[in-house]
Amino acid sequence: YTIITLHHQNTITTPSLHYIIKTARTDVPTQTPWKAPIMWEGMFDGTLYDKAHLEANSSVALTVFAIGRYLEAYLKSFIISAEKHFMIGIPVTYYIFTDIPEDIPDFVLGPERTMKVLYVPRHARWQDISMMRMKTLSKIIDLEISYTYPYIFCLDVDSIFENRFGTEALGESVAVLHSHYYTVKQDEFTYDRNPKSKAYMKTGDYYYHAALFGGTWQNVKVLVDFCYNGIMEDKKNNVEALWHDESHLNKYYWLHKPTKLLSPEYCWDVISFINRTEIKVARMTWAKKRYDVLRA
Ligand code: UDP
Ligand code: MN
Repeated sequence: YTIITLHHQNTITTPSLHYIIKTARTDVPTQTPWKAPIMWEGMFDGTLYDKAHLEANSSVALTVFAIGRYLEAYLKSFIISAEKHFMIGIPVTYYIFTDIPEDIPDFVLGPERTMKVLYVPRHARWQDISMMRMKTLSKIIDLEISYTYPYIFCLDVDSIFENRFGTEALGESVAVLHSHYYTVKQDEFTYDRNPKSKAYMKTGDYYYHAALFGGTWQNVKVLVDFCYNGIMEDKKNNVEALWHDESHLNKYYWLHKPTKLLSPEYCWDVISFINRTEIKVARMTWAKKRYDVLRA
């Protein structure tokens, strides 16, 4: 027999080229108070990021859950559009978690792009389906991703890529500004306001959208464990955070500042908003919500 030695993936020093080639965006804030960039169209040259990440041997695991009726409703357009726009030029592996692996259609993938389908049981409540992703992600990082990929992105399946979503989005700890809240004041953020929940917070920095988060596997591992522990603690205390995993995610990023923010261009609610002048390009958009049939 052969003995295989497994090595964890090293952290790659993420290039931050926007400082060098920064073109002015004066209509939107492009930096957080703690000096993390907020990535808006016009601030960066994607080709320079691609070159730097190719040289650094960057690669990324993209995780997505397609459980129950969400598989038929959303997975196909998610994958087909990701093949056109997501991290083109560096190796990508899709990790698809589903309770019905036999229903995953065949996909033709580009070079250096692969797919893994993993079975997960289905929770009865949609809130639990959403929240329990944190536990599954923690496990797959431990078992596999930490040995194979420096970066990981975790996405909602009800999303469609429409334009370049490239290596400029990679970073140590990456969060996205929620389409509905980047224009409103703090006190309108829908943080969890119940002191009994672990997600409780009085103030914060921004309101982040849980449909998309990522970073190095080391950081994402800390994030998913934080959220999962908070969720389980809440269950013990018979409470549930207002927006479930998203409330815990917001608490996490308040305590552990992300190193890169993505503008709402990266997760845009194209159905609710038309003609926002600051949105120069919609990179990934929300698919149509069909709660009436999907959550029934
Ligand atoms: N999800 C799923 N099946 C379900 C409910 C949720 O696969 O029955 C997954 C899916 O990836 C989905 C994510 O959990 O995108 C979050 O749920 P949802 O998108 O419904 O939440 P929302 O974005 O509306 O808050
Ligand atoms: Mn969603």
